[in-house]
Amino acid sequence: MDIKQEIKEFLRSLKITENGSLLYRGERVVFTPSVLMSIAFTAAPYEKFGDTMRAVYRSSIVKYGREIAKENEHLGIRGVFEYLLKFFSTLGWGRSEITEFSGLKIIFRVYSSLYGKEVGSYLKLKGLEPQPSCPFGYAAEGVLNYFAEKEGKPLYVSQEVKCAAKGDEFCEFIIIC
Ligand SMILES: [Zn+2]
Repeated sequence: MDIKQEIKEFLRSLKITENGSLLYRGERVVFTPSVLMSIAFTAAPYEKFGDTMRAVYRSSIVKYGREIAKENEHLGIRGVFEYLLKFFSTLGWGRSEITEFSGLKIIFRVYSSLYGKEVGSYLKLKGLEPQPSCPFGYAAEGVLNYFAEKEGKPLYVSQEVKCAAKGDEFCEFIIIC
């Protein structure tokens, strides 16, 4: 299924309740302008609280990835990993592509990352140093570490080595153990 079909499928899965809630497969979701989402969730807290906030985000997003892995364990490690990236793309956060997937090293890219583009513009506007700003790698790390822990293997660590926020053509994440 290509990304256009994925998004159409996503839209078909939305329901509106009498009280004005929007549901996706039974869970409440919201539409919000991407600039609000990226500034509120990433750029402004990073600006104010720096590395402390990055550490808090990292840990909460890794936990989110672990939850996704737990819920979809039957798909296996690669299956959950692909599911996660496809889900992020479907939400409109940018098309993703896995370029390497081996036991020791995983590389994936996100094109037109919502966070990369919007946070990059914000940093530029504020005269702040551009830096990698996308959370996808942390969620991916959580998925991999859920399985690694169960199998008693060493844990993975992700790093965003390219980011649209720094002016790179796409965002690229390397996850190694
Ligand atoms: Zn990025």
